[in-house]
Amino acid sequence: MVKRTKEIMKKIILLVLAFTSLIMVGCGNIENGDGTYRVATSPNTYIIDSCEYIGYIGYGSGDIIAHKGNCRFCKERDSIKWEKRKKELEELVTKLKEK
Ligand SMILES: [Zn+2]
Repeated sequence: MVKRTKEIMKKIILLVLAFTSLIMVGCGNIENGDGTYRVATSPNTYIIDSCEYIGYIGYGSGDIIAHKGNCRFCKERDSIKWEKRKKELEELVTKLKEK
């Protein structure tokens, strides 16, 4: 029971921290230089170190980015890795069948 209460408290604290950081980051406005502001409506895509990230850089008081779940570079690397692994396994199966 105590363990479950601790877990619930942890989740509540994490939620409060996430909400607070969201408020502190703000809406992501960028100043045009003439006193007017441009509002960031949708996140931009950035390519950093051969990975895709989405978020806001250079907008307002803070930058925030996150790795894209469907990053095309990771997908490509994974497919190469799995093709190589598949070949290795096929070679192993062929060797075992020969014996
Ligand atoms: Zn990636």
